[in-house]
Order: sequence, then structure tokens, then C-alpha cells
Amino acid sequence: MTQSERTREGQRLTGVSRDQREERRDADGPPAGDNGTLGMKIQDLSAFYGSFKAVTDVSMDIRANKVTALIGPSGCGKSTFIRCLNRMHEVIPGARAEGTVSLGDQDIYAKNSDPVVIRRRVGMVFQKPNPFSKSIYENVAWGARINGFRGDVDEMVERSLRQAALWDEVKDRLKESGYGLSGGQQQRLCIARTLAVEPEVILMDEPASALDPVSTQKIEDTMAELKKHYTVVIVTHNMQQAARISDYTGFFYIVNMGDPGRLWEFDDTEKIFSNPERKETEDYVTGRFG
Ligand code: ADP
Repeated sequence: MTQSERTREGQRLTGVSRDQREERRDADGPPAGDNGTLGMKIQDLSAFYGSFKAVTDVSMDIRANKVTALIGPSGCGKSTFIRCLNRMHEVIPGARAEGTVSLGDQDIYAKNSDPVVIRRRVGMVFQKPNPFSKSIYENVAWGARINGFRGDVDEMVERSLRQAALWDEVKDRLKESGYGLSGGQQQRLCIARTLAVEPEVILMDEPASALDPVSTQKIEDTMAELKKHYTVVIVTHNMQQAARISDYTGFFYIVNMGDPGRLWEFDDTEKIFSNPERKETEDYVTGRFG
């Protein structure tokens, strides 16, 4: 493919032209290519399940107040990797990680680092919405309270629900069960619950893959708001979604069956989708495999 064919293909996939993207970036603040502030720094991270190495040697800088998308074929380690960023990986028996993950000036794998504190600073939203069997209000308030929240709970619940773009739909039924909400609303409730403890980073593992298109759109709409306050890392199988919502994209890939997954290419989203450096990335983003 020539450069201009690639750019056109990128625009076809993303539905966003370069001009539109530039405009959006102007509105959002500095362009992703400006590097911004560092949110997390990952150096030589490898992840294991027992003796099986699932991910090898990932180094990556996650920029603060940006959305970083992780894409790539199934089984190449995206979920495993993202779970290493808040020490959730190690809760699986036999699972462990090697390497360095820094959050600010703290190495989250340092001996004196408390995984409970790390998981509060780096929150996680899962693929399937998993609200508690509590009221909508308590779904948001409970975790913050047990994490020592001492402020105005009503105000915190409203702020979190607003940031998750759910407030208007639930403000008159806060006492009702979270289970009574639609799947898309439950997922936004889980996002609100994660925001309630004021994390610095939010990890999302395919948060919209089980949802209908309208709910997916609402989750995507929350991203622009979320990154004003938080750093977001999202795994997605949906390339259009990655292209629409992210500033940076990491492509994970496995060379041969049984090999560990690697970060094959990591760059500005615009570049990954219109002019990637590596052939495998181009084949993947143009839908030739996956
Ligand atoms: P992706 O998110 O890219 O689909 P995963 O991180 O889920 O990839 O999986 C990476 C590799 O780790 C795969 O080979 C998968 O089979 C393996 N794996 C994932 N979870 C476990 C687990 N709990 N125990 C053992 N192996 C696992």
C-alpha cells in the first residue's frame, strides 16, 4: 500500500479524517504526540501462569490524561498485561509478573508496595458488568466508604454517576437495586463505582464487548470526560472503537503459536491506523487477520 492509500484506509476504518482528529485534539488539549505527563512507566514486563510465559518484555509509557488502547488478536496477552498494571494478575494461583511498573515515583511491584492501595490508585472495569447486590447508591458509596472516604457521600455519588454518564438516568431511583438496570447501565454503574475511590488510572478490559450498540456508544462517550480527570487504558477487540476513542494504541502480537505475546508496535493512534511501521500491524488494522 502507498502512504496515501494507507491514510485513506485508516480514515475508512476510523470514520475520522485527519482534519477532524486535529480539530478534536485542539479541543481536548495538547495532541497526543506532545507526550504530555507520564502516568505509568512499564519496563521489561513479563507475565507467567506457572511456567507458561504469556507476555514477554513489554516496555511502554502510559501518558496521563490520555486514553491508551490495546489491540491485537485473541490470546496475545492483552488481558494478562492490563491485569499486571494493578497487580490483579497475581491473584490467579501460580501467576506472577517480572519487570517494573511505575505509578508516579512508586514501583508497584516493590516489596513495600501494598497491592490493596495499588488497586485503589489503579481501578479496573471488567468485561462483564458486575454490580453488587445493593442499591444503585450503595454500589457507588460502599467501596469509597470502606476505603475511608470521609467527605459528603451524596455529593461523591452524584459526581461519580455524572462522570460515568449515568446520573440523569438513575437520579430518581438511587434506592433501587443495581441489578434492575440494563447491561449498559450496569457497566456505567461499575465505572462510577471505580471512579468513586478517585483512582489515578482506570483500566478497562473490553468494557463494551458484551453491550448493545447504544450502550457501547454511551461508554465511548464517557471517555472524553474521563480523560479530563483520569488516565485510561482500555483493551478492545473493536478497532473502530480504538481509533475513535484513544490517543495512543499498542498492538500486541504473537509470532508463533505457543510463544509469549509481545507489544509489537506502540504509537500515536493516528499513526497506528494510517501509517504503522510494521507489516503485521498494518495487516491487523486493515482487517487481514484477527
Ligand atoms: P488476550 O487478552 O490478548 O486475548 P490473554 O491475556 O487472555 O490474551 O491470554 C494470553 C495467554 O495466556 C493465552 O495463551 C491464554 O491461554 C493464557 N491464559 C490466560 N489466562 C490464563 C489462566 N488463568 N491460566 C493459564 N493461562 C492463561
